[in-house]
Amino acid sequence: MSAIAEAQERTAARIEIRGTVQGVGFRPFVCRLAREMGFCGFVRNTPRGVEICLEGNTEPQIFIDRLRREAPPNSRIHRISIEPLKPNGYASFEIIAASVGEATVFAPPDLFTCERCLAELFSPGDRRYLYPFINCTDCGPRYSIIRALPYERERTTMASFSMCRSCEEEYRDPVSRRFHAEPNACPACGPQIFFASEGRKEPASVSAAADRIRAGKIVALKGIGGFHLVCDPRNGATVRRLRELKKRETKPLALMAKDIGTVRRIAFVDEDEERILRSASRPIVLLRKKAEIEGISPGLSTLGVMLPYTPLHALLMEEIPLVVATSANLRESPILRAEEEGIGELCDCVLTHDREIAMRCDDSVLRVVCGKTVFSRRARGYVPEPLERLPGRAPQIVALGGELKNTVTVAKDGYLITSQYLGDMKDLRNRQYLEEVISHYLRLYSVEPDLVCCDLHPDFTTTSMAERWGKPVVSVQHHIAHVFAILAEHALDPSEPFVGVAFDGTGYGEDGCVWGGEVFVGDRQGVRREFHLKYLPQQGGDLAVREPWRMALAYVLDAVGEVRRVGTLSLVEERKLWGAERAIRNKAYCPMTSSVGRLFDAVSAIVGVAPLRVDYEAEAAMRLEAVACEDVSDSYPFDIAGPVIDMRRAIAAILEDRDPPPVVSARFHNTVAQAIVSAARTCAAGYGTKRVLLGGGVFLNAFLLERTLRGLEEAGLEVFSSERFSPGDEAISLGQAYFAALRA
Ligand code: ZN
Ligand code: ZN
Ligand code: FE
Repeated sequence: MSAIAEAQERTAARIEIRGTVQGVGFRPFVCRLAREMGFCGFVRNTPRGVEICLEGNTEPQIFIDRLRREAPPNSRIHRISIEPLKPNGYASFEIIAASVGEATVFAPPDLFTCERCLAELFSPGDRRYLYPFINCTDCGPRYSIIRALPYERERTTMASFSMCRSCEEEYRDPVSRRFHAEPNACPACGPQIFFASEGRKEPASVSAAADRIRAGKIVALKGIGGFHLVCDPRNGATVRRLRELKKRETKPLALMAKDIGTVRRIAFVDEDEERILRSASRPIVLLRKKAEIEGISPGLSTLGVMLPYTPLHALLMEEIPLVVATSANLRESPILRAEEEGIGELCDCVLTHDREIAMRCDDSVLRVVCGKTVFSRRARGYVPEPLERLPGRAPQIVALGGELKNTVTVAKDGYLITSQYLGDMKDLRNRQYLEEVISHYLRLYSVEPDLVCCDLHPDFTTTSMAERWGKPVVSVQHHIAHVFAILAEHALDPSEPFVGVAFDGTGYGEDGCVWGGEVFVGDRQGVRREFHLKYLPQQGGDLAVREPWRMALAYVLDAVGEVRRVGTLSLVEERKLWGAERAIRNKAYCPMTSSVGRLFDAVSAIVGVAPLRVDYEAEAAMRLEAVACEDVSDSYPFDIAGPVIDMRRAIAAILEDRDPPPVVSARFHNTVAQAIVSAARTCAAGYGTKRVLLGGGVFLNAFLLERTLRGLEEAGLEVFSSERFSPGDEAISLGQAYFAALRA
């Protein structure tokens, strides 16, 4: 056969793949597969994904079948399109430079060191023996080092390091695991660690850092998305000093443990928890305590523990198997990502490195309830996982979220992409962080918003930001946003009837009251509020959130008509208590609230486990959950009258209950679960649906969530709760964007 005849028998195709296909070893995989199957052509990154040009004598479909089956573990293929091409006569298959333009491709999250890299890290003969920045196409930093897409070294913070000959060879060798590994590095050419003190660099070693930790020092350690403050958890004096520096009295501190065996010595770990702890995302998992370590999570029944998530951590943990590793930030401000941001004030010594952090990102925090993950913070290792939920023609949207525990979401080309946890917008530095993330996302994904979403609350900084944008604004009620976040996560059609339960802390209601205990029904006509927790005065507004006894007083007065000095109420100064009582009776600065979060605060104070003043959000409710005793199944009476869920009889019964706090707490949790089941059943029957959605920060409470899930399932209902996002306010921006996109 002549060369011309042979060329005519060849088929050629152009294949486009969308999804998380950059930074996960996809091109090297395609290149190896194509060469193995005898294809010529090329593969390259494009702003929209990966493009493959395939020429050969084999059917392209056979190639695609294998590609789907054998794709690298961290990749996510959303869509493959294929079109025939005229053969071009390529002589080989190559990876070529990326095309640059408008982007909708997804950067993968930062991932922990893979098994093969770990093996090299600890083998004395390897050229990367003990090198803290070892990585390959299967593992390493991604989201935190990416400045722009498509994902290539020149657009990451690795751009300033030029590869040595050996690294370059691996990078160019299709057989190597480091073929096009963009952050590829070795001790000769890559980032280095050093101690930073007063602007000077001093040579560092991991053992020197470990020595300081053992000696009771607080070491700031640069990780993936920012700095940790690391110290010895068994050194009470050091832990107290750390709390003073961070200005945190009781907020739980996370621990990092060398391995699962070390974790098991301090906490109970089941199969699901172990799998999640060991996953490449390496979140902090809240585990049931085995023994108390003084000062780590006072008043709670859980410990937040993670395994090492960078090679540097892995090296440190070889020396010292259990450390406190709490994010280095000043109270209420973002995690620090560079020494110059004031790290010196928080520690005795700084172990840092010269690879810049492009995007700061906190550790993710989650717990496992009934086999499902419940995020109390979704960040490193999980962002930016996109949801493909919208028609491609949907408008481009930026949703700015609410105020506390905020995130932003952008919508483009059918995708919803939610940022990492950004913190509370009351703080100027967190607002700057929000602005940094917004401009990063707009650039990264080339978003030009047609719509801007915000909360209904007129005084939120995110609301005024949306108004200043100069685009049409869609404001979404806080709890409707909570419900739509669940619809988005589970890809549910909101025109099919559903029941949406939003049990939460605080949200601005359509009637100007503070909502937070709402049961909605949604269908083709829209979303209507069917039930809500009875309005009670939240004396002093935000002051009542910080001082839970104020809500206890309001609930006690409502239930029995007089003050009872029980629990935390017995610790309040006479004068203060009397002032609050008078204010409640005169309705002086008493916004009315249906918040379930405040109900938990009230009961926590009546039972006496709430502090006079909380150190962190939901502390009183978390302490109430922590004491609840598992094997109590009875509950208190309550009433549902018209649209109102009324807890007066429950509060009166709690005041009379002589059983100890663990029993009272459990009975109260059971009561709330029953109220949910009862309201949801009525709505479901009335609207002919079985779908019940649970959203809002109250569902971070595992004890309540477990009982609610069980009760709803026993009632024959189909329950949807947050598993990939937080049930709390981090999901608000997602709900806003989904709501607005569907209405547009
Ligand atoms: Zn690796
Ligand atoms: Zn090198
Ligand atoms: Fe909320």
